[in-house]
Amino acid sequence: MSPEQSAKDDRRLFRARWILPRSGVVHVDGAVQVAGGVVEEVLPDHGAVGRAGAAGIEIVDLGDVALTPGLVNAHAHLELGALAGRLPRARPFEEWVGALLALRAAADAGELESGLARDGRALLESGTTAVGDIDSLGLAATAGPTAMPRRRVYRELLDGRDAARRAAIVAALSVPLAETDHLLEGLSPHAPFSISDELLAAVASTARVRGLPVAMHWAETPEEVAWLDGGEGWFGRFFPPAAGMAGIDALERHGLLGPATTLIHGNHPRADEPRRIASAGATVVHCPGSHAYFERGPFPLQRYLDVGVPIALGTDSSASNDRLDMRRELALLRTEFPGLDPIRAWSAATEVGARGLGLQGRAGCLAPGAWADLVAFELPEPLPADSWDWLTAAAPAVRGTWIGGRPVPSDALQ
Ligand SMILES: [Zn+2]
Repeated sequence: MSPEQSAKDDRRLFRARWILPRSGVVHVDGAVQVAGGVVEEVLPDHGAVGRAGAAGIEIVDLGDVALTPGLVNAHAHLELGALAGRLPRARPFEEWVGALLALRAAADAGELESGLARDGRALLESGTTAVGDIDSLGLAATAGPTAMPRRRVYRELLDGRDAARRAAIVAALSVPLAETDHLLEGLSPHAPFSISDELLAAVASTARVRGLPVAMHWAETPEEVAWLDGGEGWFGRFFPPAAGMAGIDALERHGLLGPATTLIHGNHPRADEPRRIASAGATVVHCPGSHAYFERGPFPLQRYLDVGVPIALGTDSSASNDRLDMRRELALLRTEFPGLDPIRAWSAATEVGARGLGLQGRAGCLAPGAWADLVAFELPEPLPADSWDWLTAAAPAVRGTWIGGRPVPSDALQ
């Protein structure tokens, strides 16, 4: 059977009371036409749906739901699912890092794999269909695609500026991940303080040759910035000092600051860095739940928005968050910034996240050619006065999730 014939055979209309195909757009009694796992068309109203139905296209009537693109979680570490609830809160960050490393080293492979699968299911259950997932342990291909969101797996690279460690990392880098539509490759040089300039050069050349997006933890703590400036503080216990090396400078020098780069956290940008990030077109990922977990100071959202830096949302890992649920991250963001336009908040959890993960036009929106990754949120009665305020603040119940037009199997959600 030709691909065209097979697409025609599985063509369906997902009809819903509200269709919200992209930020700021609401269709009442419309539908999303899906075939071959992708969106063919968004039908804006009852009349268009009726005509398509009359033409013989199968209609799946979802009823009183808001149908949206699946949420995009721009930053997680699913491999740390096994550590959920096992790290005491309210530690200094350095003790948390030490405890995390010890627990991760003590966990066996089975524990880590089931933790990863559990976190993947938690994301699906709460309406997330794509995630930027940092992989430091090589577990990327472990969980089957049906029980997981689509993953941009960022292979974490960390040499501690040690030449002996670097050689093996660079050798492994030359072997690409076997990509599918569910599992896509990315690279994550860990953080400015933990990698050598030589490794960053190897990352840059691999990213360029294979067209891979890059994610880096950056400017997370004041200690990180102080250490980069003067080689002082507890970071020195983990890594040899490298005073004067700033993250953004190094990324720029290697041609790694661009639209395919996400900078994770960005809590402490230097004065001119938001502007440099904006002109490069890179994305900053804010993780409200993890931010609150560590009791960080205020996230400098306005400084980024003032100069046009795209802001995406992420959950970070179960080791520093109570739940992996992007609805909760949205609600936390709205509480953190009460003046933020809800449409802007929604785009952080959809289009902007997708762009940061290199999935622009495929994830985070419902438009012709996008993956048919859908979420149906249960509409309350009476209907919310402001759809975007409701979607981003109320953590609405998920009635169903589809990836590539197929329902996520219910046995994957138990
Ligand atoms: Zn992280």
